[in-house]
Amino acid sequence: MSKIQDFKMYINGEWVDSSSGKKIETLNPENNEVWATVPEANEKDVDKAVQSAQKAFDNNWSKIHPRERAKYLKLIADQLRANAEHLGKIETIDTGKLYRETKTQANYIAEYYDYFAGLADKVEGTVVPIDKPDMQVTTTRIPIGVVAAIIPWNSQMLLTAVKLAPALAMGNTVVIKASELAPVTLLEFAKLIEKTGIPKGVINIITGLGEPCGKALTTHSLVERIAFTGGPETAKHIVKNSAENLSQVSLELGGKSPVVVFNDAEQENALNGITAGIFGASGQSCIAGSRLYLQSKIYDEFLRKLINKAEKIKLGGPMEKDTQMGPLNSFKQLENIEKNIKDTIKQGGKVKCGGKRSSVSNKGYYFPATIIECENHNLPVAENELFGPILSVMKFEKEEEVIEKMNDNKYGLSSGVYTSNFARGLRVSKAIRAGIVFINTYRLISPMAPFGGIKDSGYGKEAGIESIKEYTRIKTTWYNSSEKPMTDPFTMG
Ligand code: NAD
Repeated sequence: MSKIQDFKMYINGEWVDSSSGKKIETLNPENNEVWATVPEANEKDVDKAVQSAQKAFDNNWSKIHPRERAKYLKLIADQLRANAEHLGKIETIDTGKLYRETKTQANYIAEYYDYFAGLADKVEGTVVPIDKPDMQVTTTRIPIGVVAAIIPWNSQMLLTAVKLAPALAMGNTVVIKASELAPVTLLEFAKLIEKTGIPKGVINIITGLGEPCGKALTTHSLVERIAFTGGPETAKHIVKNSAENLSQVSLELGGKSPVVVFNDAEQENALNGITAGIFGASGQSCIAGSRLYLQSKIYDEFLRKLINKAEKIKLGGPMEKDTQMGPLNSFKQLENIEKNIKDTIKQGGKVKCGGKRSSVSNKGYYFPATIIECENHNLPVAENELFGPILSVMKFEKEEEVIEKMNDNKYGLSSGVYTSNFARGLRVSKAIRAGIVFINTYRLISPMAPFGGIKDSGYGKEAGIESIKEYTRIKTTWYNSSEKPMTDPFTMG
């Protein structure tokens, strides 16, 4: 076994261990072996990071011109492009995600920093058409303060970029908490941040457990804004924590995204889109299209073709070039998937392919592409977010019926519609209660396209032009242009 690597946290521009000296071990999901250790931050370390962010906010970052801040964002983008392969490799070792995806993602994430760098000097205030003589009232957008960014283990470079880039552009300073399940990529990212020469304390990256580290961060009295991505149960803690410091919260949570294929859909395109949506990244994506509704006329033929495709997916080591699906990130996920499948079979669900732990390796957490036919979409696999390559398939007859079914779930993150009838695509996409709808495509992201859900999938959009305003507050200023002194101080004018 190769030597275990030891990483440090990045607080106030310095590389530090936790004050307790405690460490967290992180596993390589490919072989279930510890490959690195990171500091386990406690309340004291969190306080140090937040204090340094507050100091950087007060002394420097909130006061410099947005264009100056934008320069650093562009430098981060340059660093990401130059080091995409290295970051991709680290992310693959730590998460089990395919290298061919992590290295291209690290490169593409640079676009987010460039995008928000471009927006930095374009956020303007207003002059209010005020209803009082001799008064001029303006609004300006001001930075909020210290932002706590809580990141899950998957797609961490993207989920960091959509918080960090707009927060910095608008003059906030940031403390990022990496996930304990895969903390190393963000510590490697911190090395790139250091290279940009950004002032100390503007960005701090810490590693620790949900409690005490995440809790200490999200309850800290100096934190003014929490940007959270993760599961819905953790989100409930976050909202409760925010009652301690009354900070503004945004939540990007899970999903159980429905996809519909109508009789008239272009089948090859739909088959590929569905495969990307649920088997890409081994289904460990918050927008995974995990509930599939097929119209009755094409049901048998389409399902057969889909099974055929799923059975051919090559499982293997995530660094291998020809691997299409790597391991799951954790044993907990594997166990949860197995439990849901078992319960579904008991209630009548039929496994059409996959369904059992793979024998590709007896060390990692490998699970094959799985398709389960469900007569009713309230069966466990069709209702719960599984964060794995498990597709539940249901039959439907009519458009109104499928719309009702697609909306019959507590989540509302993403959705997909496959049809060659433009009018139907428009009708159905409007009727679906979800933050994102893909029509005749799936699993795309862009810095320009707002991302986020409704219902139990959370609130607050990330990416896109509006999202930058989520890192500002409006300040209202009244200017009196009258020469006359105020006369009656006891009435409100
Ligand atoms: P998780 O909720 O277990 O953990 C997310 C983060 O919260 C981690 O950093 C964790 O340490 C921290 N945390 C845990 N308890 C905390 C507490 N009490 N206070 C503060 N922080 C705490 O999520 P995960 O397993 O890492 O990620 C998977 C989940 O994330 C899935 O539900 C997935 O759908 C969701 N997700 C959503 C999006 C999106 O954009 N909507 C994107 C990716 C993942």
